[in-house]
Amino acid sequence: MKKLLCVFIILCLLPLAAMAEDWGYAISPLTLRNSDGYLTLANRDHLLDSDYTPEDLVNVTAKHVSGHFQLRKAAHEALLAMFAAAKEDGCTLYVKSAYRSYQIQNTMYYNRLKKNNGKDDGWVSYPGASDHQTGLGLDVLNYAWTQKDGMNAEFGNTAEAQWMAAHCHEYGFVIRYLAGKEEITGIHYEPWHLRYVGPECAEYMYENNLSLEEFTEEWQAYIASYNAAGGDFEAYCKALTTLPEPVTTGETDEDGDAEVSFFGL
Ligand SMILES: [Zn+2]
Repeated sequence: MKKLLCVFIILCLLPLAAMAEDWGYAISPLTLRNSDGYLTLANRDHLLDSDYTPEDLVNVTAKHVSGHFQLRKAAHEALLAMFAAAKEDGCTLYVKSAYRSYQIQNTMYYNRLKKNNGKDDGWVSYPGASDHQTGLGLDVLNYAWTQKDGMNAEFGNTAEAQWMAAHCHEYGFVIRYLAGKEEITGIHYEPWHLRYVGPECAEYMYENNLSLEEFTEEWQAYIASYNAAGGDFEAYCKALTTLPEPVTTGETDEDGDAEVSFFGL
């Protein structure tokens, strides 16, 4: 009976083991499935719908300039932890802007155009292209910069911006618009704009100096090559999420059954 059970378990796990061996990318498939939307890309080539509103927005209680701000729950929890850590290192951070609806972005964009005689100067995202609409993007400043009218790359020289650049990935954030990536992101260097992608991806993007555009292209190409080589990404994800619960049998292998060696244990 015990042998039969072991054979059954091995037969169940073999297809998964074969697929798992094939997975050679640094990020886990379940993360790349993006079921929580943390990897959602918003830019001029990937516009969010005008009615796209994140479902789990919460009010920002982290230190902020006057006004009412919202973020997606996971991003806000990570932000609270990050602000606390920054404070311990002597950096007090303030939220300047967080979630923006499509309608607000639309107004901002057309106001900016009017101010610039109809020219898009790259400082305000096109409606649907704003990272702020994901509910995962936000602007963070130090106190001195909250008192200024507008932001610019000089903020990157402050201790607070440098702290964020060095540590925000530890909390699942990345600097969304990096210096030197303007051609790729289509947006100026913005040392204040953080984007929550989750710790696994933030760490990887930080280590490899990738913008969200580059990272998206990379992992999507990996999945395409995985499928082209005979893999089935969706089936693999499904297998990973439907593993049977371990059963406690109370049995040991004291009788020297060899089946366990199939697992390489
Ligand atoms: Zn921003």
